[in-house]
Amino acid sequence: MPTQEVAREIMRAVDVNFDEQLQLSQELVQCPSTRCQEATAQDLMARTAREFGYAVDMWRIDPDEISKHPGFSPVDVSYENAYTVVASWRPENPKGRSLILNGHVDVVPIGPERMWTRAPFGGEIDGDWMYGRGAGDMKTGTVSALYALEALKRAGYRPAAPVHFESVIEEECTGNGALSTLVRGYKADAVLIPEPTGEVLTSAQVGVVWMRVKVAGIPVHVARAGSGQNAIEACVPLWNALHALEEEFNLPENKHPAFAENPHPVNVVISQIEGGDWTSSVPAWCTFEVRVGLYPGVDPAAIQKRLTETIASASKSHTFLANNPPEIEWQGFLSPGYELPAGTPGEDLLDRCHATVFGEKPGRRASTALTDSRFHGLYNNTPSYVYGAIAENVHGFDERVNLPSVRRVTAAIALFIADWCGLEKI
Ligand SMILES: [Zn+2]
Repeated sequence: MPTQEVAREIMRAVDVNFDEQLQLSQELVQCPSTRCQEATAQDLMARTAREFGYAVDMWRIDPDEISKHPGFSPVDVSYENAYTVVASWRPENPKGRSLILNGHVDVVPIGPERMWTRAPFGGEIDGDWMYGRGAGDMKTGTVSALYALEALKRAGYRPAAPVHFESVIEEECTGNGALSTLVRGYKADAVLIPEPTGEVLTSAQVGVVWMRVKVAGIPVHVARAGSGQNAIEACVPLWNALHALEEEFNLPENKHPAFAENPHPVNVVISQIEGGDWTSSVPAWCTFEVRVGLYPGVDPAAIQKRLTETIASASKSHTFLANNPPEIEWQGFLSPGYELPAGTPGEDLLDRCHATVFGEKPGRRASTALTDSRFHGLYNNTPSYVYGAIAENVHGFDERVNLPSVRRVTAAIALFIADWCGLEKI
């Protein structure tokens, strides 16, 4: 750990910079960076990092370049506007241990705007909270990583080892942004991702597979509905079969030990549906999307196989689907889970840095959602720490992040960088 006095200087710098940090966070929330619309958010991060004096590498993600990697998830959108930003500090004579700070700027859709009481992309601050899509997940987190690094500089120090600050996209659907940094060659001795964990360290996380199922029916006039086949209603037995599989995954004997305390760690969600063309026609088609969680250590390919078998067997016992089997498509997450190995040096250090700021060690939580930590963790064998502020309603309405929590976590991250990398006086 830096000496008490240096630690105090660093924490003071975090406090002094905090209004500025919030301003950038707010500007970032105001960029409506849903999928394929992230370029302005990435421009802002690249511009800021350049102004701070870092070497900025910004490139468009090329699916061909990353598609051979086992961590790749299939894509059905254009990456024309899909950029990754990495800002690097490279000391001339590196000592200490190198570090990657990673955050994402992509956000999920806001849903019906009338359900929000705040502007979804306003970044409004009210008391201790900042509101808006991405305020919690995880734009304030991404910005906090940059300002944690900046706090060292403004306190008169620089890291003795290389630090790469990665601002990525595609975290919410494929992870291909973080994957692109890996394929481009960015590596370090540890990775820290300030997702909004509620001031605890993520000990393990599930993987996720996305599946799309297409059911075709026979359209007839509703007056003769009995002679047609209703593609929407034919989906119901498929959903029931998927939920039966979900219950199997959650049986105590099937649980991963890291999730033993969680009564229902694996969620299978029918999350999008489209179908039919006209209220007085028997619907000729229905397409639905499913999100499936999987335990760390499980190969996504094995889950794909189970899902394919589940759809096939449910179709066999359905008079129409037996002869008209649904089509399955895979796009989006094909992602394994990740478990933080026990006893890595960064975990102990994070405990101590957190305790310096909060007065006690952080708790641990096994997460039923995934983050980008799996990439460096699984494919580079780099311990990846997911640790960040308190947020509420992420992916919901009136998403918000607690600002005193952001400040404390930023200070803990700054202390972590200082100790992990070592410091030199500027
Ligand atoms: Zn996130």
